[in-house]
Amino acid sequence: MFERVDIDHQIEEILEKATKTRISRDEAVKLMKTTGTEFHALIITADTLRHDIVGDRVTYIPNWNINFTNLCTGTCGFCAFRKDEDEKGAYFLNIDQVVRRAKNAWNNGAKEVCIQGGLHPDVDAYFYQELLQKLRAELPDIYIHAFSPMEILYGAEQADISIKDELKMLKEAGLDSIPGNAAEILNDDIRRVLCPTKMNTAKWIEIVETAHRTGIPTTCTMMYGHIEEPEHRVEHMDILRGIQERTGGFTEFVPLTFMHRLTPIYKEGISRAGSTGLEDLKVYAVARLMFGDLLRNIQVSWVKLGFKFAQVCLTAGANDLGGTLGEENISKSAGAEHGVRTTPENFQRIIRNMGRVPAERDTLYKKITPV
Ligand code: SF4
Repeated sequence: MFERVDIDHQIEEILEKATKTRISRDEAVKLMKTTGTEFHALIITADTLRHDIVGDRVTYIPNWNINFTNLCTGTCGFCAFRKDEDEKGAYFLNIDQVVRRAKNAWNNGAKEVCIQGGLHPDVDAYFYQELLQKLRAELPDIYIHAFSPMEILYGAEQADISIKDELKMLKEAGLDSIPGNAAEILNDDIRRVLCPTKMNTAKWIEIVETAHRTGIPTTCTMMYGHIEEPEHRVEHMDILRGIQERTGGFTEFVPLTFMHRLTPIYKEGISRAGSTGLEDLKVYAVARLMFGDLLRNIQVSWVKLGFKFAQVCLTAGANDLGGTLGEENISKSAGAEHGVRTTPENFQRIIRNMGRVPAERDTLYKKITPV
């Protein structure tokens, strides 16, 4: 593909291989470290593969986030969202308030609600169950994407039931899918610094695979740009690739660039000041090459990247712009400058400007409608 460009032979071979078959971790790390001409070759290869796998459509979904509480017993050093009970700005929405917000979302065109909250002492699996039942009774057709693997673990522990029983109970109550957050970086050395009281790597994998086997699909995420190295990003994506090979339960991969400004680990000098633009582009490109046809959808987070750079990242292997987000509190708390909501028309403008085709989708990418 790059006959007329002077490019490192080894990188050229890896790129060539990536378009046909699975690349190894070592090969992916080499790609993650490219600069100059090799970097450009990586981006072009990933964009070409994106075109071959999912075509020119860029998808999005009209949705609302409802973060029902920021009170949290967790201690994640990258989090600027959590509050203690007596802290200014702490809040807890009861079930009726969440249902009211979801109805408002539905009445404003949302197809999906994404519901997540802190690890509140009064919350357990039965709280989640009641919330889902009441939501489902009021809004039978809305898609409910809720409760990260950490919340699932917390809910089960609080209620003293197994993860499997909890997931079955929540599915029966109306849960459609789970946001694959709390993955951060799936390496326990990194997790010990980043989120010492959160579940370890093995537990995250166990919960996600149990969800998939219970018939609950999930997304998967990676938060990067703090203390990890390129090797950790690749290790993380390799773990996700392995899960997907075993279960096929991931609907999309969502890289989340670390929003550092107001977080404890940045203020204490432990983390970097987020990723650079080139690092962001390489994460999208290497993800596309590592996942290939196995995990077809890669989402850019416009709230974190901003509209202009989100558009650029869509040229590096990504194919989805995520949700229009009627509400978004978590990135804003950490100092994100972009958000909190946008319109389908704004997405369409960005996508058409790239010569690609805007398309509205459902949560599972089963129904994709070009607009
Ligand atoms: S990331 Fe989630 S679990 Fe960790 S402190 Fe923040 S709200 Fe709590």
